[in-house]
Amino acid sequence: MSVNYAAGLSPYSDKGRCGLPEVFDPPEELTRKVEELADMIRQATYVVFHTGAGISTSCGIPDFRGPNGVWTMEEKGLNPKFDTTFENAHPSPTHMALLQLQRVGILKFLISQNVDGLHVRSGFPREQLSELHGNMFVEECTKCGKQYVRDVVVGTMGLKPTGRLCDVSKVRGLRACRGKLIDTILDWEDSLPDRDLNMADEACRNADLSITLGTSLQIKPSGNLPLLTKKKGGKLVIVNLQPTKHDRHADLLIHGYVDEVMKQLMQRLDLKIPMWAGLPLKTEDNDPDFKTKDIKLKNEVLDSPQDNQDKRGICDESPHEQKRLKVEPVCV
Ligand SMILES: [Zn+2]
Repeated sequence: MSVNYAAGLSPYSDKGRCGLPEVFDPPEELTRKVEELADMIRQATYVVFHTGAGISTSCGIPDFRGPNGVWTMEEKGLNPKFDTTFENAHPSPTHMALLQLQRVGILKFLISQNVDGLHVRSGFPREQLSELHGNMFVEECTKCGKQYVRDVVVGTMGLKPTGRLCDVSKVRGLRACRGKLIDTILDWEDSLPDRDLNMADEACRNADLSITLGTSLQIKPSGNLPLLTKKKGGKLVIVNLQPTKHDRHADLLIHGYVDEVMKQLMQRLDLKIPMWAGLPLKTEDNDPDFKTKDIKLKNEVLDSPQDNQDKRGICDESPHEQKRLKVEPVCV
């Protein structure tokens, strides 16, 4: 399947500020800033990372608002370049560094806006991860809420039926649930998943250090979550090449490639970035009969306008109350 998941979403006019020039800190300055970041991490007791599409560009998946991003190219009437499929994409050094930071207990929680599933594919534990905009590899039962993590993308977007049914056994094992499964990919103005948003919200309030990697922080409520850490007296570090919505709130602003920043950071912390060992083993309760051949891409569904029944107006600015996926106006 094409990685151009954006083509499966309904039209939306305001995609935010796209194609802003990238800024690069000179090498010595970058090194100095990473040293400062390492010190901040050593002094922190509860570190939360926030990731956006910028951490997957080195995996061949384009971002949205970078110089060659999906929306930037769309504005120019051009098609974005995809160097991989979601199934063939491998976790980047940044994904693997985050996994190691979790393993040693430094990273307490990870919040991602990415739908590429690469955090889960890296082996990152889902109980310490919020995937606020969904995951291309996950489908969910509309009846019992059970989620299935698949080896291949589930084939639909916008919370639509995937064509498969839940096989969770009922209490006495007599009958399966048989609820309809839907994908978890949010369309514009869909509500964020309660469980993921609540866990992210709580983690940001508990955190004394929030670090954002590769996100312009323009999508709300996700982009506003790091500010909760600031409101609670914690610190905010932003790592991004382009200016972001919240640069003025940052205690430390690093302009560099995330992979380079994370490599230097891990050295400073005396930690190794683990090699990716391939796909994690399927959990035993996943459908054993699920195969690629079962997936039928539903282009007729993806191309049709999104059902408007689930859409409402803009909520207020509070990340706690703002649950709909929107672009926040940017003044940079
Ligand atoms: Zn079910």
